[in-house]
Amino acid sequence: MDWKGLKCGLEIHQQLDTKKLFCECSSDQTMAHPRKTFKRVLRASAGETGQVDVASLAEMEKGKYFIYQEFPRTTCLVELDEEPIHDINSEALFIAIQAAKLFNAQIAEEIQVMRKTVVDGSNTSGFQRTALVARNGKIDLPSKAISIQTVCIEEEAAKIVERKPEYDVFDLSRLGIPLVEIATGPDITSPDEVRLVAEHIGMILRSIGKVKRGIGTIRQDLNVSIEGGTRVEIKGAQELRLLGQLVEKEAHRQYHLLQLKEDLKAKGVRKPSPNPIDVTHLFAGSDSKILRNAGVIGMRLAGMAGFLGIELTPGFRFGSELAGYARIEAGVAGIFHSDELPSSEEAQPKYGITFKDVQAVRKFLDVKKGDAFFIVAGPAAGKAVDSVCKRIRLAFEGVPAEVRKANEDGTTSYLRPMPGAARMYPETDIEIIKVPEVGEIKIELISDKIKRIEQSGVSKDIATQLAKSAELSFFDYITNKYPELENAFVAKTILLSPREIESRLKLETENLSNEILEKIFSAVHDKIISKDAAFEVMVDVCKEGKLNLEKYKLLSDEELESAVKKIVSDHPKMPFNGLIGKAMEELRGKAEGKKIVDALRRIRQE
Ligand SMILES: [Zn+2]
Repeated sequence: MDWKGLKCGLEIHQQLDTKKLFCECSSDQTMAHPRKTFKRVLRASAGETGQVDVASLAEMEKGKYFIYQEFPRTTCLVELDEEPIHDINSEALFIAIQAAKLFNAQIAEEIQVMRKTVVDGSNTSGFQRTALVARNGKIDLPSKAISIQTVCIEEEAAKIVERKPEYDVFDLSRLGIPLVEIATGPDITSPDEVRLVAEHIGMILRSIGKVKRGIGTIRQDLNVSIEGGTRVEIKGAQELRLLGQLVEKEAHRQYHLLQLKEDLKAKGVRKPSPNPIDVTHLFAGSDSKILRNAGVIGMRLAGMAGFLGIELTPGFRFGSELAGYARIEAGVAGIFHSDELPSSEEAQPKYGITFKDVQAVRKFLDVKKGDAFFIVAGPAAGKAVDSVCKRIRLAFEGVPAEVRKANEDGTTSYLRPMPGAARMYPETDIEIIKVPEVGEIKIELISDKIKRIEQSGVSKDIATQLAKSAELSFFDYITNKYPELENAFVAKTILLSPREIESRLKLETENLSNEILEKIFSAVHDKIISKDAAFEVMVDVCKEGKLNLEKYKLLSDEELESAVKKIVSDHPKMPFNGLIGKAMEELRGKAEGKKIVDALRRIRQE
C-alpha cells in the first residue's frame, strides 16, 4: 500500500518517578494487599458548556458501578476524592518544564489545571486533571522535523484490576502518579516513522532522569487518518514494536471502509433500522451451548450478503467491527453473521452452528439471496441489535470518528465515540500556578552520552549500555578521578564484570559496592595490583565478602626478578615456551604479562 495521504500523530504518556502530582503519596507500585475496598457509582455531569459529553453518556448507559482498592502509603483521602487536592508537586512540574525546554517548546507563563471528564471509573472524582505546560516545540529526526504541539502534565488513572459485566475493580495506587504527556503534530507519514519518533521522544524523556521504567510506565496513543478518512484515536499501545503495525492496520481499515462505503452505494443498499426477531426456538436443540441456553435474536440485513465478511485488515472483518460495537455498547460476547456461518451441506459447523441451523434462520427471517443476517444471544441481545444497526449506518458515511483500543496483534477494537469539546473545564480547588523561572537546562541527551563515551575509547555496544544505565555517573566519577585508567577497562569493570560473575560463576554480587570498586580502581591506578587481576579480586569479594588486595599485589621489579630466576633454575631442561607458561601460571595477576616475559628473556640470556 502506498502511504500517500497518511497522517499520524503520537501522544506519549510517561510516568514520573516522583511523589504523586496532587498529594504526598508514594508513586511506587508495590504488590501489597489492599487495605480496604469501597464501592461507587458515577454519573455524567454537564461541563461548563452545559452539554453532557457523548462519550460520558455512552459509559453511563452501561449502568455499571465501581469498586476501588485503597493501599497504605500509596493512597490517601485525595485518591478517594474525599479531600481537595493539595498543591501541585513542584518536582514533577520542574521535570515537565525541563522536557518542554528539551523539545524547544514555548513554556506557558501561567498554568491552569483543567478537569477532563472521565466516566469509565478510572478516576474516583469523575475527571482527570491535566495542565498545559508548553506548546509549539519540535524534534529533529535525521530525515525531517516533527512538531511537538503540546507538553502537558497530568495525573495517571487508577489501574483496572478486573472487569465484570456489572462492575469494574480499580487499584487506586496508580491514580495520581504524575505523567508528562508529549503530543506531536500529525506530521508522521509512514508506519516506519512512528517508531523512530516514539523512540526519540522516549530517549529525551529518559535523559532527564526521574522517569519510571518498565512495562506500563510509558504509553503511546496514536491518531491516524488517511486521505478521505477520519481522525481516529488509538489508545494504550505499550510496546514500541507495535506502533508501526497499528498505524499500518488502521490505514488499511480506513482504506477498506471508504471502499465499503462506495460499494454499499453502488449496490443500492439501504440503511438498516433495528428489526429484531426472536429466533430462540430455532436453537432449542442446537449443538451451540451459547444459543441453546439463551434468548436469541436475529435480524435480516437486506442486500448485504458478502459485506460482513469483507476484510478491513488481515484477520479483521467488517463483521468484527460490528461485533466490537455490540460488545462495548451492549456487553454481549459477540455476534454471529451469515458470511462466517456454514453456507453448504458440506461445510463444518461453526461455533456449534450447523448448515441446518443457518437454513432455519434464513427461512424464518425471510433472508433472500443477496441478503445477510446476524444473530446474537443473551439478555442484552436487543440492545446489541441497535448497536449493530448503528454501526452499519455509520458505514454509509465512511470512517466514524472513534476512540479505539490497541490490541496485542496490532489490530484495534472500538472503545467509544470521539469525545466532544464538553470534556474540559477548569479545576477550582487550586489557584493558577505561576511557572517558576528555570534557567538554562544542562541535560545531556542519552544519544550525546553514547557519542561521548564511544569517543573516549569504549566500544559502541558498551557505550550504549552504559549511557542508559544508572552506572554512568560512577563511570564518569572514576574516569575523572583516575584519568590514567583506560576508559574501556573502567566501563567493562563497572558494567560487564559483575554480570559475568553472576551469570558464569553464579555468584551474588551485592558486595561489589561502588566503594569497593573504587578501591580496586585506585589500586590498579597506583600499580598496587595489575589491571588483569581486577576481575579475580572482584570474584574474591563476592566469595569472601571482603576486599583482599594482598593476594594480588604486584611484585616489585626485584621480587619479580628473583621469582623468575627461581622458576628457571627449578626447571633447567624446560624449553622457553614451557617456562613462559609456567611463569604465567605462577605469577598470574602479580605482574603484567609483558614484564614476566621480558624478565624471562633477560635471565635466559645471562
Ligand atoms: Zn494521596
